[in-house]
Amino acid sequence: MYSTIYVEREVSEHSLTQRVLSQFPSADKVECERYGEIFNRKAQDFRLQKQRPSLMLARKYGNHVLPVPAGYGVGGDHNYYFSVMLNCIYDCRYCFLQGMYRSAVHVVFVNYDEFAESIRNSASEHGSHEQVWYFSGYDCDSLAMEPIIGMAEYFIETVKSLDHVWLELRTKSTQIRSLLNQDVVPNVVTAFSVTPDRISASLEHKVPRLDKRIAAMVRLQERDWKIGLRFDPLIFVRDYQVQYHELIEKIFSSVDPDLIHSVTIGTFRLPKEFYRTLENLYPDSQFVAQPFVLSNGTVTYPKSVETDMKGWCYERLVEFIDSDRIHFDELELESG
Ligand code: SF4
Repeated sequence: MYSTIYVEREVSEHSLTQRVLSQFPSADKVECERYGEIFNRKAQDFRLQKQRPSLMLARKYGNHVLPVPAGYGVGGDHNYYFSVMLNCIYDCRYCFLQGMYRSAVHVVFVNYDEFAESIRNSASEHGSHEQVWYFSGYDCDSLAMEPIIGMAEYFIETVKSLDHVWLELRTKSTQIRSLLNQDVVPNVVTAFSVTPDRISASLEHKVPRLDKRIAAMVRLQERDWKIGLRFDPLIFVRDYQVQYHELIEKIFSSVDPDLIHSVTIGTFRLPKEFYRTLENLYPDSQFVAQPFVLSNGTVTYPKSVETDMKGWCYERLVEFIDSDRIHFDELELESG
């Protein structure tokens, strides 16, 4: 998978660095001082790198845990996100990471212990009667790398004994083995992002097929792990009602709706500078031909389209799920 692995000298002896390197014995190992030397270089070809990305193992300094943007969450009192990884092994045409970074190199921060300490410290600032949520996968699909980096395994252990703390693992992957290999932890939710088959096939490259994700959901439910569904972003197509109807029917023909922890619904929105980058990277993509509008520095669907899609999906979903488990992502993204 990786033919070049960059390693910051500071973490070259770290146990996770060694674990990852041992899985790619024929990769070239290149030492560097700080990941930014490579990651932030100018004039990188994101599209080319995306086809055959390298891996970088680094240490993250500061800001291990950050508050989520307003409007993100599933009803918790306090919401944070953390990212042990920059960039993603999947390649969704609408992904905002493409506009965010100059490089498609996969960066993994191996100092999980410092992330865990930040989780414990920030959680301790809130009363034990309050729900404090930590989202992994808000800006990368780190569960997709689980066999290599063991992120879920580590952070499930972190939150296991913190009663008021919840962990969401948001993913489009089927990498659930580390969960199935252990007893259920009730304050962990694996939240699957879903889109109709045909939309996924055209826009979500390298993402596991919906059938496989549904099979992963079922296996988790069978073992009493909580799962969530994320209809986010909803993607507009002319026959979206047909396609999303098929999607919802397909999911609930296998997945038990009574055991769904939460559902979120959100539509595509992206700061305009990120969107311009995306347009430049993939000018022929069907996605950039969508009927977007610019609203307060954010590229999104016209209000009427957004309201129709969200409302329509909500009406279908309440046929299966109580309304108090359905949340709307009302992200307030900042431009630039
Ligand atoms: S799975 Fe998520 S993070 Fe990964 S490319 Fe797709 S949208 Fe981006």
